[in-house]
Amino acid sequence: MGTVAAHGLRKSFGEVQALDGVDLDVPDGSFFVVLGPSGAGKTTTLRAIAGLETLDGGSVHLDGRDATADTPAARDLAMVFQSYALYPRRTAYENIASPLRARRASSSDIQAAVQQVSALLHIERLLQRRPAQMSGGEMQRVALARALVRRPRAFLMDEPLTNLDLKLRVEMRTELTRIHRTLGGTFLYVTNDQVEALSMADRVAVLREGRVQQVGTPTEVYERPANQWVAGFVGSPRISLLACRAEGDRLVGAQGWSLPRPRWTTAEDGRPLLLGLRAEDVSVEKRGEAALPGELYGLEPLGDRTVVDVKVGSEMVKVKARPTVTGTPGERVSVTVDLDRAHLFDADTGLALA
Ligand code: ATP
Repeated sequence: MGTVAAHGLRKSFGEVQALDGVDLDVPDGSFFVVLGPSGAGKTTTLRAIAGLETLDGGSVHLDGRDATADTPAARDLAMVFQSYALYPRRTAYENIASPLRARRASSSDIQAAVQQVSALLHIERLLQRRPAQMSGGEMQRVALARALVRRPRAFLMDEPLTNLDLKLRVEMRTELTRIHRTLGGTFLYVTNDQVEALSMADRVAVLREGRVQQVGTPTEVYERPANQWVAGFVGSPRISLLACRAEGDRLVGAQGWSLPRPRWTTAEDGRPLLLGLRAEDVSVEKRGEAALPGELYGLEPLGDRTVVDVKVGSEMVKVKARPTVTGTPGERVSVTVDLDRAHLFDADTGLALA
């Protein structure tokens, strides 16, 4: 078993309220990612769960049992940090073996366990090297191997891929999901990288300023963001938000445009709203019936696609277009909207409207 639950975690550092009532329910065997910007409280949450931080309030339950007062060792959780924290004078083999030695495992058991995990991580050839003789990516694998070698109740990972270059980071994402599938076990992983979160997680909790904003599958968080902030934080390019109001069967923009009111919305007339448009749900045309009349502002070629910035009045709409798209800044264009895929938020509360 390996369920991890945090209820109402509170922690302040002087003036800073790092955790403001954090609730997390991490199911046994899941790859659960806590996603949030720098300073959101991700590390503090992990440290609190690991027993490395004294809390001002709240509780931690492991496998259904209250573990709030347990020592870190008694919690039986393995932590992997972004700094590798390897013993510099020991070989990779000895680093990986160290948690098992601490438990007084027999040498043959240790050898078998180190071999198994090294094969899984493709690091057999590094076992006799010391940290100074390894690259960052290799050290990260050794650090992971050291966490994986013992079978803790759950793995807590704090941005372990941050120090790797982009190519290695992408590779390690795939590796980690493979390791999770192969080994099983509960992974609780924190990151500020939404691509990492969306690609690896089976569940994501989005954290902001010490509060969980939304919990769901990656698809739910992306497709049905609970509020304007989550919509803006998850997704690249960033979702475009346009001020508007519902008026009868129309949605009327603050910049003078008007669209049919989406069938699904319950918004009452006159209430200030924000229309959220993901770049893949809009397209840009040179002529045609102007849904949102605008002016081409700039093109950002990204190889497989080009992001087109269109100014609609004083607001900007980002459009994902084919890489072959052309245009001149200042040119008049119109933006076509897939209203079934659009989002509406209450402009005052930021909450998504159904
Ligand atoms: P990052 O992605 O940058 O690591 P994070 O989401 O992990 O950020 P935390 O490290 O948990 O954020 O920090 C949350 C808040 O608490 C921040 O404002 C941080 O400055 C503050 N904080 C964390 N640890 C301490 C500490 N030991 N003393 C004072 N303030 C702290």
